[in-house]
Amino acid sequence: MALKEVKISKTLKRTILLNPGPSTTTEGVKLSVLQDDICHREEEFAAMTREVMAGLTKVVTKNTADYETVLFAGSGTIIIDVATSSLVPDGKKILVINNGAYSQRAIDAATMARVPVVEVKFGLLESFDLAKIEEALKANPDVHMVYTTHQETATGIFNPVKEVGALAKKYGKVFTVDTISTLGVLPFDMEEENMDFVMASSQKGLNAYTGISWITGKRAEIEKTKDYKPRSYYTNLWRQYDFFKKNNQMHFTPPVQIMYSLQQAIKEHFEEGPQKKYERFLAGWKAVKEEMEKLGFRSIVPWEKQAGFITSLQSPDDPNFNFDKIHDYLYARGITIYPGKLAGLENFRICNLGSLNADDIRYAFKVLVDAMKEFGVAVPVKYNS
Ligand SMILES: *Cc1c(COP(=O)(O)O)cnc(C)c1O
Repeated sequence: MALKEVKISKTLKRTILLNPGPSTTTEGVKLSVLQDDICHREEEFAAMTREVMAGLTKVVTKNTADYETVLFAGSGTIIIDVATSSLVPDGKKILVINNGAYSQRAIDAATMARVPVVEVKFGLLESFDLAKIEEALKANPDVHMVYTTHQETATGIFNPVKEVGALAKKYGKVFTVDTISTLGVLPFDMEEENMDFVMASSQKGLNAYTGISWITGKRAEIEKTKDYKPRSYYTNLWRQYDFFKKNNQMHFTPPVQIMYSLQQAIKEHFEEGPQKKYERFLAGWKAVKEEMEKLGFRSIVPWEKQAGFITSLQSPDDPNFNFDKIHDYLYARGITIYPGKLAGLENFRICNLGSLNADDIRYAFKVLVDAMKEFGVAVPVKYNS
């Protein structure tokens, strides 16, 4: 007797997600999750997983022979737990360069894993002062790893990681970067950028579904962590890497369907071409800038300090401007905008990380203008000072 087939019929709406992940997915990614049920221990699935890992390594380096990607099931923050708890031996410290919410998250994660932190703090809109970082390295010879965020997602500020990596190298430190909001968007080679480990998550720049996060690093550097005492059972890098190496499959159950979406997203990433894809994002950013200027919106971060995918807009000083109401108006029309994460200045964010083009951005601004008119907000917008 044959097994019954499952018939599925539903039309999916394409929405414009302007929040910092999950991002708008393609039709191919949407369809990719509809798979026959399969056990993750089957070789068919394990082989696909290995293909995904190799593809993810290829996204960040030409030197695929010397680098490895290690997968974990979870949103991006799980990989912050992995990096902060697995890469520093007992008795050593992590130095975190902190200019925003996402580097702060690493400080909190390290602290909870009982890894001593040396913090080098900069203001939210401040550029890194390399001399101050070097001073901290000189003053703290027991630092083992330097850590920071590539693009601070809270502000959209782009941090000079290559220069920081060169400093880390000069002092013989491991350099780990949270590239969660740049990987798959901004083409870079981690070797050229002086990065030892990079971190990413399926729902951001690669535009797959949420549920898988990973770390990519030089195999020789991963091997060095072999004898570090684990601080966690599940989020330990060595345990996960070692199990995979010995068994050719993941240690615990991965989100099976999400793995298919990631496979599809990697395929589409290389089909579009990293450089062309980047240019599409930049065209979207240019549209954000032009539309903002047309409407009189202020960018919180000076344009030249931004990575180009996340823009923080200062909310107008208009009694009729209510973010929640505007959000709801846009949401009802398939567009999602996101509140800001900066204390002191009222703001909201437009993130251009998904399968979107400049026309989608212009359309979103058109609906934003409709919303502002509907609620009696002056257009162009006004600020008191
Ligand atoms: C999105 C993001 C994360 C992870 O957030 P999750 O909600 O756990 O996926 C971490 N760091 C940066 C820089 C991010 O943009």
